[in-house]
Amino acid sequence: THGEVPAQETVDDASPDESRLQPLIQPWPLAGSIGKTDLGLILAGDGVYVKDALGRSLIDGPAGMWCVNVGHRHPSIADALRDQAMTLTYTSPWYTSNNPARELAQMLADRAPGDLKHVFLTTGGSSAVETALRLMQFYNNVRGRPQKKLIVSRQGAYHGSTYLSASLNGRPRDHDWMDGATELARKLTCPDPFRRPEGLSIDAFEDFLEDEFRTMIEKEGADRIGAFIAEPVQASGGVLIPTKAYLTRMQAVCREHDILFIADEVVTAFGRLGHIFASQAVFGVEPDMITFAKGVTSGYFPLGGVMVSARLFDELRRSNHPDAMFAHGLTYSSHPIGCAVAIRNIELLENGILDHARAIAPYFQERLKTLEDLALVGEVRGIGLMAGIECVADREHNNPLQIDIEVGKRIDRHCQDLGLLVRPLINMCVMSPPLVINKAQVDSVVEILRQGISKTMDDLRAEGLW
Ligand code: PMP
Repeated sequence: THGEVPAQETVDDASPDESRLQPLIQPWPLAGSIGKTDLGLILAGDGVYVKDALGRSLIDGPAGMWCVNVGHRHPSIADALRDQAMTLTYTSPWYTSNNPARELAQMLADRAPGDLKHVFLTTGGSSAVETALRLMQFYNNVRGRPQKKLIVSRQGAYHGSTYLSASLNGRPRDHDWMDGATELARKLTCPDPFRRPEGLSIDAFEDFLEDEFRTMIEKEGADRIGAFIAEPVQASGGVLIPTKAYLTRMQAVCREHDILFIADEVVTAFGRLGHIFASQAVFGVEPDMITFAKGVTSGYFPLGGVMVSARLFDELRRSNHPDAMFAHGLTYSSHPIGCAVAIRNIELLENGILDHARAIAPYFQERLKTLEDLALVGEVRGIGLMAGIECVADREHNNPLQIDIEVGKRIDRHCQDLGLLVRPLINMCVMSPPLVINKAQVDSVVEILRQGISKTMDDLRAEGLW
């Protein structure tokens, strides 16, 4: 903890007045409940804790949205933010440059794998993915391959909420009521070993996934596929960790067919897996582009970006169209405050927090794994400081629970009463705490989850739902 959090006004009853509609529309609302939010009100944060309007102190299990990596209320980041605001708040990224952006770009280039020596800065993850995809389109237009534009993603993927990035999302509900660039998007099987096709060994599953990609390339034509995009660990899909050689095999197929390999590291970069970038350090791949956001500023400022291979820009420079313009840019690309925050954040990560994250990760995973003895829990899986606890209807067959039971939400409700914020994800709880979490706090997380899941089992039994 970083000292005393200023006192916050709490309320006796934080539940909303049903008769009053809220002006604020929160993300992912159901049509029938727009403006009728029943979400908990968070007032303050400090280290791994947040404080809600009921006066409760809660461990921030999801670190916001996998992002508050150095923990809440870090004075050094607050200083960097304030100092930059008092030096240069903003300057145009079009016709001027600024020192924090240049310095951050150099830091990122020094730390990225392979020849990812350039970075385009954006405002978050969706705009980073959108930028990577538009750059692929530009690249292929300039090279005289205007038909090479299809983008391959996977079932279970999450890449963002802008039109093109959202078109790549692979969860059914993402598309049920929303349009997308279906003419450009193609999906492969989710590489989730836990839910692999019945009867396949893990090795056979990996073969199956590679063969499926090759078959798709044959069918569509390599000359029509521009990019393959993959989260190294599917995060919002439920913390799905692919088999060992999956990513290297997919990368090899991409290289064979001149398909750009984009690693979406919006969640996995900046310490979640113990490294600034995880692609090479953890998975042994060298993507052509890496998208990042969230942890780059630990959530203190909206910022994201795309690392891009120097080879790609060399090719563009040497093309027949050196005057072609990549007509793409955001007002807040290279934002000086965001960049100053990111620089300080990376310094903090490298001054002990990454080491701590790597050291505590095995303990975090081991302790969470003990929850597998609960009858509702089908699997606890994880890597680094991210984990998913998947609940099932019947452990013998790992049958999924009915979605409308909302088991994740039920567990979250109990856990909040006990002092832990859980990110519920249908039938799953997702944990990705601030990287500064200590052993005693890990113990609390696990103990609270055990109680919260046990109480949920009691409820489900009492209601005849399980
Ligand atoms: N890619 C991945 C892997 C993500 O998890 C997310 C956000 N959860 C995004 C992209 C989109 O990022 P943002 O919400 O910052 O636009």
